Amino acid sequence: MSPSFSSRMHRGLLASTALLLAPLGCVTSSQAGAARDEAALRTDEPPRVKPKWGLVIHGGAGVISRENLTPEREAAMRAALTQALQAGHAVLAKGGRSMDAVTAAIRVMEDSPYFNAGKGAVFNHDGVNELDAAVMDGKSRMAGAVAGVHHIQNPIDLARLVMEKSPHVMMVGDGAEAFAQSQGMPLVDAKYFFTEERWQGLQRALEQEKAKGAPPAEQGQPSTQGLSPAQPSAPGQPPTPGATLGQPVTPAQPPASAPQPGHPATPAQPSSPAQLPTKGATPATPAQPVTPAQPQPGSSLTPGVDPITGDHKFGTVGAVALDMDGNLAAGTSTGGMTNKRFGRVGDAPIIGAGTYADERCAVSATGHGEFFIRYTVARDICARVEYQDLPLPEAANYVINDVLVKAGGEGGVIAMDRQGHVAMPFNSSGMYRGYINEDGTPTVAIFQQP
Ligand code: ASP
Repeated sequence: MSPSFSSRMHRGLLASTALLLAPLGCVTSSQAGAARDEAALRTDEPPRVKPKWGLVIHGGAGVISRENLTPEREAAMRAALTQALQAGHAVLAKGGRSMDAVTAAIRVMEDSPYFNAGKGAVFNHDGVNELDAAVMDGKSRMAGAVAGVHHIQNPIDLARLVMEKSPHVMMVGDGAEAFAQSQGMPLVDAKYFFTEERWQGLQRALEQEKAKGAPPAEQGQPSTQGLSPAQPSAPGQPPTPGATLGQPVTPAQPPASAPQPGHPATPAQPSSPAQLPTKGATPATPAQPVTPAQPQPGSSLTPGVDPITGDHKFGTVGAVALDMDGNLAAGTSTGGMTNKRFGRVGDAPIIGAGTYADERCAVSATGHGEFFIRYTVARDICARVEYQDLPLPEAANYVINDVLVKAGGEGGVIAMDRQGHVAMPFNSSGMYRGYINEDGTPTVAIFQQP
C-alpha cells in the first residue's frame, strides 16, 4: 500500500468514525459524508489496523450511479447497511459465533425492501418471488443451502436449519418448505414479498423482452404455481393489503385464485433455444491483458448488463464474519435475477460459487451468477489463499478484476481471512458494502470512487 493511499485510508477511517456515530436513521447522505465513507472502504484493501474479529457485508453490486440514486434512497440504504452491521456486531461483541453474526446481519437485509433478498426479492418470469440462500461454517466446513423457495420469510435461517438439522447440504422448492415446516419454521403467504418497485422491474424486463421479439405466449403469463398471493389484482397494482402477512400456508397447495383478467392461467412456455440467455463469452487466455469480454454477434451478453433483464443492478445480500475464537463463516441470500425462468438457480446457494468458508478464508458473492458458478469464484479465492499463500486481498482482487473481467462476468465479493484481513473487490461501478470490527464503528460505502 502506498503511503499516500495509507494516509488517505487512515483519514477516511477517522472521518467515517465521526460520521457513523450518528444514530441509526440519521445517517447523512451528504456528498461529503459519502466521500469520506468511500475513501474508508476502497475495494480491496485491508483495514490499517488489523482487527481480532469483525464482520463484512454486501447488499449487491452493479451499475449504481450517483445520478440514479436519490439522496433519500441512498440514506435509507446506508441506514439499512449500518443496521445490519450493528446486528452482527452485537453478536460478535458478546463473544458470539461468526455464524450467528452472519445470519443476524443477513436477516436485517432480508427484512428490508431495498435489497434483492427476502422482502425485497425480485420477481421471476411467472411473477413469483423465488429465493435462494446458503451458509457455511469455516471451522467445521458444514454448509446448508436452499433454492427456489417461495414462502420463507428469512431463507438464510432455513439454509442454516438445513446445515444444522439435516444430513444434507442443499434442499429445493416444496421439499425445502416441507422441511421448514417440519422444523417449526412458519411459512408466509407469497404476498409478503410483493413490492411495487420489483413488480415494475419485472414489467420493464417483460417489455424489453417483448421488444426483442419473444412470442406473446411467453410474456409473463401468470403461472398456476403458487402465484395468486404474489400477483397484484391488476397489472401494476399492489395486492390487497393483506391480513395474510405471516400466515402459514401449505407449500404444495398454493391458494386457489383466478388468473388475472386477460391472462389465461397457462404456465409460461419454454422459449426456443435461440431465445435462451446466451452463455458467457469464451475466457481470454491468462497472458492477455485484462479486457472485458466483448458481446458476441447476436448475443444478449453485453458486459455489465444482465442478459436476462437488461438491468444493471443485482442486489443480493451477504455477510462474512470472524469471531473472537478465530472462526470464519459466510452467508448469502437472494431473489436471483428479475425475469428468471425454468427454475433457474444462481450462485448464491452454490457452495464454492457464491458462498464459501473454511479455516482460512470466507467469501460471499454478488453479481451475474452464471459466471460465479462456472468460475467457482468463492472457492477459487480461498484456494489461492490456501495453495498459493496469497494475501486475501490479492487473491480476491485477482479473481474479480482479472479472471472475471476477462470472462465478462460482472459483480463482486466480500471476504475475510482468519487474521481479520478484509477484501471487497468488485468490477462494476458500485457495490453496497460495509465493515465493522471490534471498535464498533460501522463504515458503509456504495460507489467505486469518492
Ligand atoms: N448472484 C445472484 C444470482 O445470480 C444475483 C445477485 O447477486 O444479485 O442469482
